[in-house]
Amino acid sequence: MVSRRELDDLRARLRARGLRATPSRIAVLALLRRTGGPLSHAEAADRLRDQGWDRATIYRNLTDLAEVGLARRSDVGDHVWRFEAVDDTHAGDPHAHFVCTECGTVECLPDVGLAVGKAAPRAVKQKQVEVQVRGRCDGCA
Ligand SMILES: [Zn+2]
Ligand SMILES: [Zn+2]
Repeated sequence: MVSRRELDDLRARLRARGLRATPSRIAVLALLRRTGGPLSHAEAADRLRDQGWDRATIYRNLTDLAEVGLARRSDVGDHVWRFEAVDDTHAGDPHAHFVCTECGTVECLPDVGLAVGKAAPRAVKQKQVEVQVRGRCDGCA
């Protein structure tokens, strides 16, 4: 569960971005921040099942958080949106993701950024691209 202090912090973050701090939104943001890596809608719904939110509510909250910049949405090539919290400690900048070609696990590689040269396309300069590293995870190697 979420501590009193964390709750105040989450509420403040939502309100600072102009979102109402509804209980389901707080739960979704708390989950993303605790996970520290990308989660799909299905995974988020699964982990919050005990709390009784329906899947549509969770999806709406995920997209709301992405729209105001509290979460980042990425597609690692399987056409599934994954969401991760954006904050000072994690994912503050766009970074590469490692995708396991066997089991589909997605991990953050926060130290693998983009080195952008002058000739790079605008999307790359604006970091509106996905950087992926593919291979086998430790569990599948
Ligand atoms: Zn794997
Ligand atoms: Zn990430």
